[in-house]
Amino acid sequence: MKWLQSIVSSLKIDRLANTIGDSLWQANCPLCKRPADGILCKDCDRQIMAYQSADFLQKDHPISSNIPLYSWGIYDGALKRAIASCKYDNHPEIMEAIAAKMADTWKRSTESQKLRQAFPKLSVVPIPLHSNKLKSRGFNQAEVLAKRFCELSNLSCNAMLLQRVKDTKAQMQTKSSKERIENLARAFTVSFQHNSNQRNIILFDDIYTTGATIREAIATLATHQFRTCAVIVLARPQFQLPKPQNS
Ligand SMILES: [Zn+2]
Repeated sequence: MKWLQSIVSSLKIDRLANTIGDSLWQANCPLCKRPADGILCKDCDRQIMAYQSADFLQKDHPISSNIPLYSWGIYDGALKRAIASCKYDNHPEIMEAIAAKMADTWKRSTESQKLRQAFPKLSVVPIPLHSNKLKSRGFNQAEVLAKRFCELSNLSCNAMLLQRVKDTKAQMQTKSSKERIENLARAFTVSFQHNSNQRNIILFDDIYTTGATIREAIATLATHQFRTCAVIVLARPQFQLPKPQNS
């Protein structure tokens, strides 16, 4: 857009040039609409950082005895609002900003170093959206997150390996655990077109709640001889332990 600024500047209407320039190439923060140097302004960035989990590895909640769960943040407050804004206000760039935070945490994590040593050829697979939802949203937030995370972490990303073939209800709309399992049964398949020799998988998603989606994806991958070595999510709700009763 510099050509436009130079044309307007050459007309010696500098104030107008600055105004046009600012509005054209200084992107505003998608969350608060104020000018920002990066994708997010410093204030929103700081608010999101306040919801980073104390521990990346969720020791209290492994997926199974040999599949650890990593969650960067707590699904609440500014982080929850940022995820909603990304998905419902069409701001995929928010996931790019947060992926950088996740990659930073991953690279510093000793647990992740152990995982990398144990499984040298790891491939990241994001949980896919069904094509109907992908069409209406325009992007898969888990894929945007995973791709940027992989670029920054030097991991390979296989976004097409897993396909969602069933247009499931949102898990929150299901009433019982039986209904949740039936809702997700055979929801995924593995794409033969994007099959890979990299059989060690890190599954990647934005939000982790009941884990039913992740478990179904792991089962589908397993039937095609892909081993899920870890699950990384952006955020999970912080479950509060019941308060001890006063005696
Ligand atoms: Zn902001």
